[in-house]
Amino acid sequence: MEQTEVLIIGAGPVGIEVAWHLQQARIEVLHVDAGSIGHTIERFFPPSTRFFSSPERLAIAGIDIPLSTQEKLTGEAYLAYLRSVVATRNLPIRTFCRVVSAERVDGGGYRVGMSEPSGRCWQVEAKRVILASGGTDRPRRLGIPGEDLPHVHTSLGDPHRFFQRRVLVVGGRNSAIESALRCWRVHADVAISYRGQDIHERVKYWLRPEVVSLVDEGRIKAFMPTQVRKILPDQVVLEHLDSGDTINLPVDDVLLQIGYEQDGTLFQLFGISTEGEQASPVHNPDTLETNLPGVYVAGTATAGTQRRFAAYIETSHDHGPRIAAALTGAPPPPVAEARVLPEA
Ligand SMILES: Cc1cc2nc3c(=O)[nH]c(=O)nc-3n(C[C@H](O)[C@H](O)[C@H](O)COP(=O)(O)OP(=O)(O)OC[C@H]3O[C@@H](n4cnc5c(N)ncnc54)[C@H](O)[C@@H]3O)c2cc1C
Repeated sequence: MEQTEVLIIGAGPVGIEVAWHLQQARIEVLHVDAGSIGHTIERFFPPSTRFFSSPERLAIAGIDIPLSTQEKLTGEAYLAYLRSVVATRNLPIRTFCRVVSAERVDGGGYRVGMSEPSGRCWQVEAKRVILASGGTDRPRRLGIPGEDLPHVHTSLGDPHRFFQRRVLVVGGRNSAIESALRCWRVHADVAISYRGQDIHERVKYWLRPEVVSLVDEGRIKAFMPTQVRKILPDQVVLEHLDSGDTINLPVDDVLLQIGYEQDGTLFQLFGISTEGEQASPVHNPDTLETNLPGVYVAGTATAGTQRRFAAYIETSHDHGPRIAAALTGAPPPPVAEARVLPEA
């Protein structure tokens, strides 16, 4: 069986940055991801979707992000940057290795089992483990009848597919509003259902005025405050939350854009305790060590299912130095000031 000093689970931006800090501290690392590097961005960013964060705040591992324009980065551009960081910094990552089991071994450390798409399974024994496994593992669901019908989507994908179709976008924050606008631009007949009284006031300043004026002009229909109660093959049933009235809205497609949630399976496999409404893993903010000795969390994994992003890339740049310090016995760096990101 393979053995390593540290196993890092997850090669999103934060896992990669943590790996670089451990490399700087000359700590032996075995690094795996269930998908490719940046798997979350690859899965959930629709084509040509831009980050909310400014590029300089997304830079990791001491490598600047080259820009040909002053615009924010697309998901594709950031994935290209991550590939370049991993190659330049020589950070070996075993992609498509999913952690499927974990047990404590006598004398300390953990035996961790991997599964690959080919069916190959293998184990590694690690003295310490870092879970940089993310916090946006699956789209949130409404839990209503009809949600599994094939015309119900949780990802925008290429908006082209919605050309001349009646699309109901469910949600009223950034992703929902961006999707509504992009669908409208490909000549879809767009409606929005949101349980708030109005488009959320924190929607990005480059999206909100445009959608508000399109709603005012009647080009996009907005049903607020409403809740989707049922989805049928050719219509959705909305409840108006003020009047209690029912609205039957004919649709061809339903696009759910109501955020993401964390899959706590890894925490359960290791036996890490979680706390609060967000089910965030219990950990020491100075060292990021969880209630399990030698098991650390980093990045969005630290925060459970977030209602508004408080843990994301730019608030996690201190996680690598913090864990490296804990592993080498150095004093922890000061805690970074928190800044909350507009909700995706
Ligand atoms: C539309 C959209 C816009 C966003 N905009 C921003 C933004 O502007 N700024 C920002 O900072 N963030 C933004 N985010 C959130 C962003 O995706 C995260 O901040 C970022 O990816 C978090 O990095 P991470 O390394 O903590 O986790 P992730 O990138 O989620 O990486 C976790 C990795 O762990 C792997 N993993 C999970 N379970 C296992 C397992 N069992 N075995 C092996 N590997 C596993 C996953 O495959 C994944 O690659 C946005 C998200 C979305 C969907």
